[in-house]
Amino acid sequence: MERYLKALNQLDMKLSSINYAMSLTSFDAMTAAPKNSVEARATALEGLSTFYFETLVNEDVKNLLNHLNDHSEALTPTDCSKMKILMQDYEQISKIPSEEYAAFEALKARASVAWEEAKEKNDFSIFAPKLEQVINTTKQFIAYRGIGGHPYNTLLDDYEKGLTTEKADAFFDYLRAEIVPLVKAISESDVKIEDDFIKASYPIEEQKAFSKFLMEKVGFRMDSGLLAESVHPFTINLSREDVRITTRYMENDMVSTMASTIHESGHAIYEQNVDSAFGLSIIATGTSMGIHESQSRLFENNFGRSKAFWDYFYEPMQGFFKGKLDHVAKEDFYKALNTSKPSLIRVDADELTYPLHIMVRYEIEKAIIASDIDVYELPKLWNDKYEAYLGIRPKDDGEGILQDVHWSEGLFGYFPSYALGSAYSVQFEKAMKKEVDVDGALSSGDFKPILKWLEKNIHVFGRTKDPDDIIMDATGEAFNPEFYVNYLKEKYRKVYAL
Ligand code: ZN
Repeated sequence: MERYLKALNQLDMKLSSINYAMSLTSFDAMTAAPKNSVEARATALEGLSTFYFETLVNEDVKNLLNHLNDHSEALTPTDCSKMKILMQDYEQISKIPSEEYAAFEALKARASVAWEEAKEKNDFSIFAPKLEQVINTTKQFIAYRGIGGHPYNTLLDDYEKGLTTEKADAFFDYLRAEIVPLVKAISESDVKIEDDFIKASYPIEEQKAFSKFLMEKVGFRMDSGLLAESVHPFTINLSREDVRITTRYMENDMVSTMASTIHESGHAIYEQNVDSAFGLSIIATGTSMGIHESQSRLFENNFGRSKAFWDYFYEPMQGFFKGKLDHVAKEDFYKALNTSKPSLIRVDADELTYPLHIMVRYEIEKAIIASDIDVYELPKLWNDKYEAYLGIRPKDDGEGILQDVHWSEGLFGYFPSYALGSAYSVQFEKAMKKEVDVDGALSSGDFKPILKWLEKNIHVFGRTKDPDDIIMDATGEAFNPEFYVNYLKEKYRKVYAL
């Protein structure tokens, strides 16, 4: 057995090292690499993913995993988790031919660059041919490895284990029925919330200083990570002691910067609090995109847009932006943070309309995967759905279908986890409040009790626990979206005096 365990940990170390190199390459591509670096990077990523594929998918590994599975009672819980996760990962890619798997990495690298150019020039036709290739490859991979049921299920399950179109349909149907009328009621309300001061000019240097202050204050360990800049904010973890986040600074939209910083900090804090005993390992990361997003949204919205949070943070913020907010009362700032108005850009959407943006993407992805839609038809489909759910129509593709990076990176099936994460976050917060004085912690700027609860109930497990089990054990019940809908209703009815 000792020999097998050694082989298991060797395999883990090798795969984790390749992941490390690929993550660092991606981070560099999005923050520092020059424009002309794309071709060499695409080749390097193709090489690295070939290396990953061949390291994981071969007869020796298959025999090793089967042997360990047959003797799982002799394994420590950690080794047993490694074995199970590796079996899952093996299952996920082994049916795809190695060359096609690696070629997809190269295609994604090129598609990302095409998307960036298309977005910059506001011209969908620059991205369309690459998008078509990404879609065709995605469908081909589903054909190789489909898990049954609706073909989209295979992709949903990649990002949120156990998620199916049936479950997602029920979730989005419920949100549509409850949220669309509330959005309409708000748009018809006479209440006018003053928020012009948010769009005033806030110097970038002051925003940078405030971002650093915020991330450290909410629990980001500054010696085990860093903050950089990118067009699309994101988090990347190399290890629990090197978690990198990015934000974007916009002089006339300080709230957007701040929300991005807190959001990515939430992701990063999850990664920084995975069990240190795992070391550099395939299990030392968040368990699913939905659970990950629940952590970022908990910090961004449930905390960062709450009264208690600003009881503590408002005065320091006034200090960072000298003279800019002296005339604005804390209560007015809180309301301005919680205005709701249908908008076209997902990342700038308010908490209430946000899930409708996700619904649009969910429905389009489901249709793309299930049928043969011409890619050139997609912009119109996109615009029609915005008009149907949000009552507004993009005037061009820049504020329409070209806004998100995801499809260029082959991330079909990822979007639903954003809405699920928002819903999970409310259920987690409710459960946390039974043990922790959350408002007291927020209003005193002392995040320790909150971080402790999150670490104990969610973070520490890394990938060793599935999303459903985390929710069940942390909250005492299965996922229930009613908490989320009730939270939104209660909050927005108060803000708009409905
Ligand atoms: Zn996120």
